[in-house]
Amino acid sequence: MKLFGTDGVRGVVNEDLKPEFVVRLALAVATYFGSGSSILVGRDSRAGSELIQDIVSGVLVSSGLRVYDAGLTPTPALQYNVKERGFDGGLMVTASHNPPQYSGIKVVLPDGIEAPREVEEEIEKIFSEESFRRVPWRELRHRKILVDDVNEFYVEGIIKHIDTDKLKKTFKVVVDPANSVGALTTPKLLRMLGVKVLTVNGDLTHQPFRDPEPTRENIEYLSNIVKDLRADFAVAHDGDADRAIFVDNLGRYIPGDRSAALLCRHIVVNKRSDLPRRVVTAVSSSTIVEDVLREYGVDVVWVRVGSIVIARTMQRLGAMAGFEENGGFMYAPHQMVRDGAMTTALMLELLSIERASLSDLYDSLPRRHLIKTKVPLRDKSLVSNLVDKILSSYGSYRSMTIDGVKIIGPDFWFLVRPSGTEPIIRIFVEASDENKANEILKDLLRITSEVLR
Ligand code: MG
Repeated sequence: MKLFGTDGVRGVVNEDLKPEFVVRLALAVATYFGSGSSILVGRDSRAGSELIQDIVSGVLVSSGLRVYDAGLTPTPALQYNVKERGFDGGLMVTASHNPPQYSGIKVVLPDGIEAPREVEEEIEKIFSEESFRRVPWRELRHRKILVDDVNEFYVEGIIKHIDTDKLKKTFKVVVDPANSVGALTTPKLLRMLGVKVLTVNGDLTHQPFRDPEPTRENIEYLSNIVKDLRADFAVAHDGDADRAIFVDNLGRYIPGDRSAALLCRHIVVNKRSDLPRRVVTAVSSSTIVEDVLREYGVDVVWVRVGSIVIARTMQRLGAMAGFEENGGFMYAPHQMVRDGAMTTALMLELLSIERASLSDLYDSLPRRHLIKTKVPLRDKSLVSNLVDKILSSYGSYRSMTIDGVKIIGPDFWFLVRPSGTEPIIRIFVEASDENKANEILKDLLRITSEVLR
């Protein structure tokens, strides 16, 4: 029985995530960690997350675990506290970027990184066999312990990685935490770094003003705010503040792989030349990253889509950073997980040291036209035929078949991959100009309809 998706267990509260389901899942997680383990439990500000945290905490106590309550906190703050403060694990109650009716549970190991698939499978096995370990009532000595400084400890941890003497003193930044937990840390961090901050959608008692996913469409309004205030940039988080998407001083949305390319170059040129010259990203990122980093001797390791795969690959091979095109960025010396506030602090440092505006840096990157689309997939067994057909049509180009198929040409790339969560094929095409991108897309749609009909 597969309970975990690409990043934890997710579902609509009281529909997929009914209390009785959460109890069983929490029993399985408690059995995995074992009685006596100390577990830090936190949550985002969604309506359903508090009740799920209460259920989970109660079940862990009933299984003889020591529960530490982090309260409202971003996922990266919980992860940092687990790693740095020696907890045996962590549980984060959040549905990240999903719409407000969702919640979910992420399992974090003592290294602060989300559990790999092997651990999820172990938990799923305990869940389906109901091989829960319980403790006799005499051993129920523990109760929930409140930890009051999880967010402060995290913010201080980020500042340690920033060269504060080099920071420009006149930054003005707009922060949009989507009415969730990023409001508790990013504005505070930026103020501590001397930045003038304007927070929008910072009230945690409101239902989110916008969809928690910081896509181009969902945060369009930030463009005018940045221009009205003549701010240096805006940063938008998702619901658990592990993503940071930037809007530049001209009000332009910057895709996460572009900001990541700039930050990776910053790390290797201005910051830490001692780190492994390697970055890890998913096949959904643009090959612009390779074009930018090649001249600094930085290798790009391509992996399948999913932040846990990126993090675990960084850990295994050694890397200076890892990232996703959706705004998830991991700075290895801090922690090998996506971290929206750390990413924002690195951006301030980059702009200060290079004495540049974000728009100038963005304009220094190669210009490409990107199209994202999807087509229905009724029969999953046809995916391998589709991959073969595309490989034979584009055989002369460099290809990757780690996750669907990615073809890389001199002035274009595309990715055709089945979604991990929905019955669809996702198609990304990026080319030097719009006509070329449309031409490739047309050809891919022709091949797709032939194979999938
Ligand atoms: Mg997230």
